[in-house]
Amino acid sequence: MAGQIRAIRGMRDILPPETSRWQWVEQVAREVFDLYGYRELRLPLLERTELFSRSIGVDTDIVAKEMYTFPDRHGDSLTLRPEATAQVVRAALENRLDRAPGVQKLYTLGPMFRYERPQKGRYRQFHQINCEALGADAPDLDAEVILMLMEILGRLGLTQVRLFLNSLGCPECQQDFKARLKLFLRTKEGWCDDCFRRREINPLRVLDCKSAHCQGLLKGSPVLKDCLDEACAGHYARVLELLNRFRVPYEENPRLVRGLDYYTRTAFEVVAAGLGAQDAVAGGGRYNGLSQELGGPELPAIGFAIGQDRLLEVLPPEAGRISPPKVFLAALGDAARDRALGLLQDLRRWGLAAEMDFQGRSLKAQMSLADRLGAIYVIILGNRELETGQAVLRRMATGGQEQVALKELPAILANFISGKV
Ligand code: ATP
Ligand code: MG
Repeated sequence: MAGQIRAIRGMRDILPPETSRWQWVEQVAREVFDLYGYRELRLPLLERTELFSRSIGVDTDIVAKEMYTFPDRHGDSLTLRPEATAQVVRAALENRLDRAPGVQKLYTLGPMFRYERPQKGRYRQFHQINCEALGADAPDLDAEVILMLMEILGRLGLTQVRLFLNSLGCPECQQDFKARLKLFLRTKEGWCDDCFRRREINPLRVLDCKSAHCQGLLKGSPVLKDCLDEACAGHYARVLELLNRFRVPYEENPRLVRGLDYYTRTAFEVVAAGLGAQDAVAGGGRYNGLSQELGGPELPAIGFAIGQDRLLEVLPPEAGRISPPKVFLAALGDAARDRALGLLQDLRRWGLAAEMDFQGRSLKAQMSLADRLGAIYVIILGNRELETGQAVLRRMATGGQEQVALKELPAILANFISGKV
């Protein structure tokens, strides 16, 4: 026999009933996005490699080691998207969304791909809920975006979180900071290979090195806050002021930089208790220069991405495990089965989730199937019931039974279930 084919390492099948939790998270996010005026984009999973190398930065972990890149049959270099922001900006520019009046508020949901070492909370295909607001540099928008993120997490019941915040300044502030940081990094020895190389060419990246040793060497390094010019400092202060006003708890983390090169000014990350080493559930920030790097006009913007896999790992297992109240039709004999098919459709027309057996089970086996499916009511239909135009309605929780006219069943059940009687 041929060997069984398995899924690719780091890529998971997400199965029922777990999928109902995924749908619930997406539903809650969509509701909040609607309230804040965000609209959905559906974007391709493949893009030209250059989109990511140009925007994320060639010397970031994502571009240097984590991308799924391959030539297509024509020889063009394509990449499975590792993140959504660059793609949303590409799509907005290409479809001229940026020319419409007002801030363009966009969101997108779906899988991302990174060739990382698979472990708890880290997959090669993972899923993000992503939002981007394009077209304004106002700190009030930064605050709104962060409030919206916390609203989504709050509605999902995720309360044990810490919001970390920093300002990365504008490119001028960053230049000043990088010069100071380089001097500091040269004074220390023992960096990992990546940091050793990056401390000269891309020193900001040393700050988000995952190695505990490098993090230790960074004690006492210069911080961005000391390099912010007046405008960037003012912007940051206003964001903090608004978070205070709306009572969003946050902690400043002066060494937070995020793993992509395009961030400017506000950067943030949400970390959840109980996730172990992979504890970031969401991250985001402002990226005022990204549009220009992609050949577009000036388009200041801010956004975030929620890691849906990790989010679901930290939520209690019962959260979002919702299934509609169900009715099971147990039929005995061919005539009853045939009649049951019509009744099944009637029940569904009344908005009731209804099922029956298609494998010729005995009544006893049908009852245990109903139980396993979580049916609230079972309708028992035999030839005798058919003759009298009635059926037995059994309430599973109590075992109580009554005779009900077939005609009236859908209406009775719809009433029962909507009132949860
Ligand atoms: P980390 O520091 O954990 O690698 P990141 O900074 O690379 O995260 P972002 O690019 O900011 O992550 O993506 C936003 C969110 O997506 C993260 O906070 C995380 O929840 C999730 N995420 C990122 N990479 C993975 C992955 N390989 N598997 C599962 N979730 C991920
Ligand atoms: Mg990462």
